[in-house]
Amino acid sequence: MIFSMDLIQFQRLFNKEPKYRWGQAKKAIFQDLIQDWQEAATLPLSLREELNRKYPIGISAKTFVSEDKNTTKALFALKDGFKIETVLMRHKKKRNTVCVSSQVGCPLNCSFCATAKMGFKRDLEAWEIIEQVLFFARYLKKNKEKITNVVFMGMGEPFLNYQNVIGAIKILNDKEGFNLGARHFSISTVGIVEGIRKIAKEKLQINLAISLHAPDDKLRLKLMPINKKYPIKEILNAVDGYVNNTRRRVMFEYIMINDLNDSDTHAKSLAELMKNPLYFVNLISCNQTGIFKPSLSSRIREFKEILEKEGVIVTQRYRFGKDIKGACGQLAAEGEKK
Ligand code: SAH
Repeated sequence: MIFSMDLIQFQRLFNKEPKYRWGQAKKAIFQDLIQDWQEAATLPLSLREELNRKYPIGISAKTFVSEDKNTTKALFALKDGFKIETVLMRHKKKRNTVCVSSQVGCPLNCSFCATAKMGFKRDLEAWEIIEQVLFFARYLKKNKEKITNVVFMGMGEPFLNYQNVIGAIKILNDKEGFNLGARHFSISTVGIVEGIRKIAKEKLQINLAISLHAPDDKLRLKLMPINKKYPIKEILNAVDGYVNNTRRRVMFEYIMINDLNDSDTHAKSLAELMKNPLYFVNLISCNQTGIFKPSLSSRIREFKEILEKEGVIVTQRYRFGKDIKGACGQLAAEGEKK
């Protein structure tokens, strides 16, 4: 990516220009999706040249397309040589979801996740998050299609990079900018309680998802070391605060791992936790990254039926891009490292 730029610094360049120029520049980047300032026909030639010199906006990435063509993974090289991955999923009915990364690697070390194996390198800047979205917006434009959803379910833990994640969302949500409605953003977290409390107070109607994966602390701790700091009860307390403040539904992600967290007893304990009518469960077949195997599809069906009998709303995640290592938990920016 070459586009990495500090918006404040960038905007400073416009101080000497008439006020409306900044609006024109934003429209060119976020709505016309220009790839070179020369395409910004509303701006004077001298300014376009200055912008190209100081703030080139080309974004390059290596792409991988799944066999069914529904998934594209992009591998970006950052300015400092680190690499990150972003995934575009094309659903039916023109729904296009971009799954973005919020950090290079991840410090949380969940046992089932490939990103964990890279370790943690650094937080992404707001602009590095925005670029992932712009890259795919430009990519889709060629087919006259648009991004309809942005989910923070790529590499990293968004609530450990709160400010830059929210900063990126605000810019992408800006009516004069990319103008993607707040309800079309989702943040998935392992349950960083401070982040959940903060997001509850933001005036942003974005969606919240919690990676739960186990119905009790003992098992969850085995899978997710962060459970030591934030046990289930504390997470659910914070989520209840969020629900009371926002009246928004909350998704609980649950990876189905063969013979580990997929028994009838686990389903019943999970149902106990999901008594809030605004909670719902999203079942995800575990993608193999190491020792864990996915539950059989018959087991997932039975697990789902138990939850539903207990009155829990359950959805199931479609598995995108497994053949290009673009599915949940498979992002690891292979061949990376400085
Ligand atoms: N750190 C955040 C954001 C990453 S989101 C979080 O954990 O929520 C990625 C989602 O994919 C999370 O729900 C994560 O638990 C899930 N995931 C990780 N490894 C997986 C695997 N091997 N199979 C299926 N889902 C996985």
